[in-house]
Amino acid sequence: MKALYPGTFDPITLGHINILEKAANCFDEVILGIAHYTNKQNYFNLDERYALCQEACAHLSNVTVKKFSGMVVDFAKQEDCRIMIRGLRAVSDFEYELSLALTNKKLSQDIETIFLVPSLRYMYLSSSMIRQLAELGGDLHDFVPPGVAHALQLRMKKEG
Ligand code: ADP
Repeated sequence: MKALYPGTFDPITLGHINILEKAANCFDEVILGIAHYTNKQNYFNLDERYALCQEACAHLSNVTVKKFSGMVVDFAKQEDCRIMIRGLRAVSDFEYELSLALTNKKLSQDIETIFLVPSLRYMYLSSSMIRQLAELGGDLHDFVPPGVAHALQLRMKKEG
């Protein structure tokens, strides 16, 4: 069975990869779908996010990285995925994720959302926290893949 793991991935963190690895163990094929449209102001543009995700997922042979615009349920159908994976961290994610899953269910009856829980060490890790940490010059290596840490450091230098 094929599953879609959609998100903004701005940037991809070890928390996302932890969820992705679990999904890759459960399903034959997993598509990591990077959303073009989100309600968030993006830090990295779509192509940058795509390149960073591709590099970070290279060790997972049954994972493919794709970009999408428009509604996630339409992309899932287009890719022939009936399962959508989302990650659930501590309580803060629950309400948002539940409303998203119910809205998507209303839009498309045949797609199921499955929640995966990350390993404890990634429970409080978010892309926004990583961006803040990068701005403050913190060490990023415990939280993001090396390519992402490098890209964030380059960006910080440029913005100086
Ligand atoms: P979105 O903008 O769609 O919420 P994100 O890229 O922020 O996209 O996250 C994609 C999914 O991954 C969401 O379900 C989010 O809850 C989950 N996620 C993000 N960080 C983590 C983490 N550290 N552990 C587990 N799940 C996570």
